[in-house]
Amino acid sequence: MSRIVMKFGGTSVGSVDRINHVSSIVKSEFDLGNQVVVVLSAMAGETDKLINLTKDLSDNFLASEYDVVISSGEQVSAGALSGLLNSQGVKAQSRLGWQIPIVTSGDHKSSRIEAIHSKDLINLLESNVVVIIPGFQGVNSEGRITTLGRGGSDTSAVAIAAAIDADFCDIYTDVDGVYTSDPNKVPTAKRLDKISYEEMLEMASLGAKVLQTRSVETAMNNDVVLRVLSSFSDLGEDKKGTLVCSEDSIADKKIVTGVAASTNDAKLTLTGIKDKPGVAADILGELADNGINVDMIVQNISGDRKTTDLTFTVPKDEFTKAKTLMENLSSNLSYKDLIVDSNIAKISIVGVGMRSNAGVASQMFRILSQNNINIDVISTSEIKISVLINKELTEKALNTLHDHFELGKAS
Ligand code: ADP
Ligand code: ASP
Ligand code: MG
Repeated sequence: MSRIVMKFGGTSVGSVDRINHVSSIVKSEFDLGNQVVVVLSAMAGETDKLINLTKDLSDNFLASEYDVVISSGEQVSAGALSGLLNSQGVKAQSRLGWQIPIVTSGDHKSSRIEAIHSKDLINLLESNVVVIIPGFQGVNSEGRITTLGRGGSDTSAVAIAAAIDADFCDIYTDVDGVYTSDPNKVPTAKRLDKISYEEMLEMASLGAKVLQTRSVETAMNNDVVLRVLSSFSDLGEDKKGTLVCSEDSIADKKIVTGVAASTNDAKLTLTGIKDKPGVAADILGELADNGINVDMIVQNISGDRKTTDLTFTVPKDEFTKAKTLMENLSSNLSYKDLIVDSNIAKISIVGVGMRSNAGVASQMFRILSQNNINIDVISTSEIKISVLINKELTEKALNTLHDHFELGKAS
């Protein structure tokens, strides 16, 4: 007997047929004698619809009520599956985030899970009840409903798995595992049998939305055995999938494991800033004070060494706010021009083998330039290299790098 958390994403519960299929996957695990918790996303497209509703109502919709609205899609999925399972003779009960409770902290729209009260969940599991929990939602210390950021049901599932000490956390989605790149953009992408937590964390934060970044972080910190599987395969079919695990369990350490793309950033450049100590800190401090995360940063000194240009990226949904802040900087932080560009993509290569192999960056830059892909900004860490390019060239860059590093080849 195993204790399993099974999470199904939006497309996996996107229609009556899909929910029926999910129910048969859940039932087959339960019939094997396992204890099963199911975490569900809203039906595909539902969260977007709810977000649009709040936007249609007001440009300034209250964040606490926004969370009440957009968390509701998950409640529908949970009730629907639980009802269906019961009609098929499986004892199931839904439990909403606040009923458990899943306690969160931080701002509305992007709250963090702090604690999950697992006692009642475990009692239900021990009484052979399948517990169905809507992902993405929690409750804060004031008793208000919160949400965990887009894609947050992955994090709900992993956090619940950690809280109930589950043997596995299975993330069922519309692809059969983690690939060397997004299989919907790179036709030669190959499924990985295993990927390390560190690499998956980078891939996710750099655009591989198959897992929410925080879910990988939570799995890594709590040693949750995380598997990514397809909800579209037939029952009884061999489950291939990808195991996300510690680096030590992977024998074959590649230099480059994957290529990711993100089009969620926007770039701002301030030209002709007076070059004096502390100026970059003051400008970036203004953004930090207003809760805006800056990602890539480049500063260039002009020929006369008196002025400097500062380029940085911010999340696209903070772009207008960042632009307004820059337009209203205090007079001692004056600059010549503000140039903004949201038509950009961040392309990244990721691999733990980069730690011990020099020359990967230069190969990446050369191959992009040979393909007439201009690089705007570069940033690196121990196991990743990212470049900013024109958004229209995203797929070309992904495929070019994927081919160059031979990621489609059988290992
Ligand atoms: P769900 O609704 O199940 O949460 P998501 O749409 O959030 O599913 O994530 C699955 C999608 O992630 C896939 O359809 C795929 O297009 C995308 N994706 C991006 N990068 C990768 C990758 N490296 N491996 C697998 N899928 C990826
Ligand atoms: N329904 C939410 C979203 O679309 C959460 C999730 O699916 O993980 O972002
Ligand atoms: Mg998702």
